[in-house]
Amino acid sequence: MSLFSFALFRSALFRVFFPLLLAVQLCLSSESLLILLSPYQNLISTFPYIMLSVVIFLSQPFNQGATGLVALLMVVSLYLIQNYVGIDDLTDIQRFTFCLLVFALPVNLFLIHFLPEKRLLSRFGINYLLFILFQVVWCWLLLEQLTNENVSWLWSAYLKPLPSLSSSPLLLIIISMALTLVSGFIVLFRNSNFDHTIFINLVFCTLALVFFDTPAIPAICFSLAATLLLLSIITSSHELAFIDQLTELQGRRALEIEMEHINGLYTIAMLDVDHFKQFNDSYGHRTGDEVLRLVAQIMKQTEGNASVFRYGGEEFIILFKGKNSNQCLPYLNELRSKIANYDLVIRDHHERPILDKDAKIYSQDVGEHKTVNITVSIGVADSINARTKRHDLGTDEVFKAADKALYRAKSGGRNRVTNLRFA
Ligand code: GH3
Ligand code: MG
Ligand code: MG
Repeated sequence: MSLFSFALFRSALFRVFFPLLLAVQLCLSSESLLILLSPYQNLISTFPYIMLSVVIFLSQPFNQGATGLVALLMVVSLYLIQNYVGIDDLTDIQRFTFCLLVFALPVNLFLIHFLPEKRLLSRFGINYLLFILFQVVWCWLLLEQLTNENVSWLWSAYLKPLPSLSSSPLLLIIISMALTLVSGFIVLFRNSNFDHTIFINLVFCTLALVFFDTPAIPAICFSLAATLLLLSIITSSHELAFIDQLTELQGRRALEIEMEHINGLYTIAMLDVDHFKQFNDSYGHRTGDEVLRLVAQIMKQTEGNASVFRYGGEEFIILFKGKNSNQCLPYLNELRSKIANYDLVIRDHHERPILDKDAKIYSQDVGEHKTVNITVSIGVADSINARTKRHDLGTDEVFKAADKALYRAKSGGRNRVTNLRFA
């Protein structure tokens, strides 16, 4: 993985540790940063609004409505923090209102992780909005109830700050940190772009909460969060354009761009799943999809510095730069036999097997299950011109030769690697 490739931005570790690193860096350098930025107070307090507006605006054409919604929540909370917090002569009830808000924001953000659909205008989205409405009504009723009562006991009993850490109530900081921690684990395990968006927000909301009475820190936190949200929008649109959704391999567009820039010696292997139509007919299309994902997982482990792409349907391309086709045969034969020897356990016809993290398909010990194997055929060709002996074959010709080799592998009986030039 090259350092600046998009794969880096999409990796779970980067998604968890980069925001954390920025947050830690901000904590460590907050004092010097504040001195440095002190002449630009106005700019600093407006900047997050500008950035978050850009996020909201871009979220529409980039089809990231939910990210836009999260950014909108952040605008509202930043406004509340900047305008209602840190005022010394707050009444107890006003402070209590702030605490409710601060409690509700991370909790509601966190809950979005568990919405099966991230669109607002879906059954779950509407239930979620109703739940938020319920909280608003509940808070309003509670505050009505408490307005004429002395609530200082609430403040001193449950909402005490730890002065050496922050002037925010310790309990709220702990809840917010715990939610951020769990959210980080969700990103590590699921690594979805949307979980990442929520995690970024939780990290910087927690930080803003801890430092809410230090001028400019909440604004800087929200600016950083907005910048990361922008990065997330760009990464996920890159993902949509270049990454195949089913297999998570690079897609055909990525291959085309790679081929536009390729030169010198390279080898193309074209891989096609054998009798896949029949497999779909026997076990169902969904099982077929799981098998394609499994094949992709095994292909990712191909050695020899291979880049793997889904070409379309049940066809894949493996690209080896700097190697001739003969040098690639051992890697391809190993891949072919790994796939052929993989026992797929299928629970019953038309029922979907479960793919675990290590790309194993397994069945629960209930119901009928049977073991099947699939095979693949691979056609190989390289960029060496047989006539001139130089690596100057055009990409179209290399593809044609690989396609011809694949055809030969199929007609020769399938489950084999064919390299026409060295045959
Ligand atoms: P051969 O060994 O000659 O390659 O036979 P085949 O049946 O694999 O070849 P054919 O090209 O006739 O069929 C390809 C099948 O792959 C047809 C289609 O149903 C299936 N297929 C293509 N894309 C997908 C997909 O994304 N998911 C699933 N489940 N099946 C797919
Ligand atoms: Mg095919
Ligand atoms: Mg096929």
